Amino acid sequence: LLDYSGKTVLITGAASGIGRATALAFAEQGARIVIGDVGEGARDTVEQIRAKGGEAIFQHADVADSASVQSLVNAAVATYGRIDAAFNNAGILPPTADFADMKEEDFDRIISVDLKGVFLCVKYEIQAMLKTGGGAIVNTASVAGVIADPGMAPYAAAKHGVVGLTKAAALDYAKRGIRVNAIAPGLIRTPMTERWLADPQFTQALMANSPMGRAAEPEEMAGVVLFLCSPAASFVNGAVWLADGGMTAH
Ligand code: NAD
Repeated sequence: LLDYSGKTVLITGAASGIGRATALAFAEQGARIVIGDVGEGARDTVEQIRAKGGEAIFQHADVADSASVQSLVNAAVATYGRIDAAFNNAGILPPTADFADMKEEDFDRIISVDLKGVFLCVKYEIQAMLKTGGGAIVNTASVAGVIADPGMAPYAAAKHGVVGLTKAAALDYAKRGIRVNAIAPGLIRTPMTERWLADPQFTQALMANSPMGRAAEPEEMAGVVLFLCSPAASFVNGAVWLADGGMTAH
């Protein structure tokens, strides 16, 4: 059920972290990977896939820019003929600040990358998928799309927005062969979180608050995405799949 041989998967934010681990996992199952990212580290991801005999291409793409996303989707279709699955995962974190001290430009930046970026990707991916008979889309939300963390209002707003957008897109295309779901990761060990995880005080608080007492590795998110995009999840639609070690269960 998780065989992706001959399938094309578009992934944003695969220069590192969750996106890279997921790109490698899809490729391992036979998928052809199209990566869109602003980070040149995506070239390493492509190299790692090719070194294992897989197929992958990288196009520099800023998810906050409509023309850039359109061009990425066009490149995927031009190269491989179709997009079977898409993982809209690119994202950034704002500087932590109490609400009244937050800068408007930080708010705008987070909303444009973390929320509008997902909107643009889903929009153009759906246009492509409708022409080839359907597909599956997974967006990266966060536990911050379900609960809010202190000092992170723009991120919470963007990720709650990703959850709403995911449900709305799922409803619009439910009868047209396109499923749209989201993952809500807890704390994952990636470049985004490495400075927190290097802080012993933070790690101690994490141990106290997390049921499993640890952060996850990015590879632990990949399996969830592969499942959600596969026929094994054929009746999963508009769902927000928590992968947080139970963090939000209490
Ligand atoms: P990461 O920093 O390793 O990966 C983020 C990726 O997004 C990088 O490849 C980066 O180059 C790319 N990116 C950033 N801005 C972009 C843009 N404008 N256009 C295209 N690509 C862009 O971090 P990660 O932890 O792997 O994050 C991946 C996703 O997971 C993000 O959406 C993040 O919000 C979400 N997330 C992470 C955690 C965590 O604990 N690490 C938890 C919940 C959700």
